[in-house]
Amino acid sequence: MRIALAEGAAIADAATILQRGGLVAMPTETVYGLAADATNPRAVAHLFAVKGRPHFNPLIAHVPDLGAARREAAFHPRAEELARAFWPGPLTLVAPRAADGRVCDLACAGLATIAVRAPAHPAAQALIAAFGAPLAAPSANRSGRVSPTTAQHVAADLGDDVDLILDGGPSRLGLESTIVAIAPDGRGTLLRPGAIARSDIEAITGPLAAPGDGVDAPGMLSAHYAPRARLRLNVEAPHPDELYLGFGVHAHGERTLSARGDLEEAAANLYAMLRALDATGAEAIAVAPIPHTGLGEAINDRLQRAAFRPA
Ligand code: AMP
Ligand code: MG
Repeated sequence: MRIALAEGAAIADAATILQRGGLVAMPTETVYGLAADATNPRAVAHLFAVKGRPHFNPLIAHVPDLGAARREAAFHPRAEELARAFWPGPLTLVAPRAADGRVCDLACAGLATIAVRAPAHPAAQALIAAFGAPLAAPSANRSGRVSPTTAQHVAADLGDDVDLILDGGPSRLGLESTIVAIAPDGRGTLLRPGAIARSDIEAITGPLAAPGDGVDAPGMLSAHYAPRARLRLNVEAPHPDELYLGFGVHAHGERTLSARGDLEEAAANLYAMLRALDATGAEAIAVAPIPHTGLGEAINDRLQRAAFRPA
C-alpha cells in the first residue's frame, strides 16, 4: 500500500492503476472514496470484495460534470436544476439509467436507475479527468464501519487491499453526500440525508418524499457507520463508565463535536472523533443531543445507524 500526495505524478499513476482494474483511494469533500473503473465489471467486483459490501448495494458513479452525467442518466429538468445548483458538490442524484450508459450493471446492482455525482474536491476532479470515464467510489472503509475522513484512516482500514491512497488532507465536510432520487415525473425523494441540508434541496424541489413511497433506498442498512463501542444517544449526563462526545453547551471531558454548537463543524469532526473514542478501547460512548435542523438531520441519521445493534 502506498500513500502519495494527491498531485501531478500521483494522479497520473492513479489513473493508470484504475485503467488496469485496480483500486485507488481518493479524497473528496465528503469522505475518502475507494475508486474503481465503473465501466469494468471485474474492477467493480474486486471493489465489492475488498469492502465486503453486499452486491445488492449499488455504487455512486463519479463524473466531472452535468454533461458527463447525462451520458449515464436520463435526467428530468428538475434533476438538471439540482445539478446546476449543487455541482460540483456533495449531492448525489438518482435517475433512470441512460440507454447507452457506460457504467456496468454490477455497479448499479442491476437496477434500472443509477446514482451519479460530480465531486468538488480538486484531486477528485483531477483524477476523474485523467481517467476519462466514470469512477465507482463508495467510502474507502470495510462495509458497515466508520467512513474515513483522512488518508491515514483509509490505510488503517484497508491496508494493502488498496493499490494507492491519494492524500488530499482531511475531508472538508466529513459526511456522505445527500442522495435525492428524481423520478421520470419530476417527483423528488430524499434517499439519504447528507452534507447538503434537506431545506436547501427543498428550496428548489419543494417537499421531498420519504423512501418506500414507490422509491427504494437499497443498501441503507440500519447498522452502518459503526464503531466497535456501544453508543448511547441524546445523553445530557453520561454514566461513569461512558466516554462522552459533547456538543455545544453539553460538554463533559475533552471531546466535543463542536464547542460552539456549530453543525458544520460537528459534521466535519464526527467520524474522526468516533474513531478516536473507539481507539481508546472504551466499551461505551455517550453522545450529546444534536439538534435535528440543517445538517443535524444527517448527523443524527449516522449516529442512529452507528448505535444500532441487531436484536
Ligand atoms: P455509498 O457509496 O456507501 O455512499 O452509498 C451509495 C448509496 O447510494 C447506496 O447505499 C444506495 O443507498 C444509494 N444508491 C446508489 N444507487 C442507487 C439507485 N440506483 N437507487 C437508489 N439508491 C441508490
Ligand atoms: Mg459508506
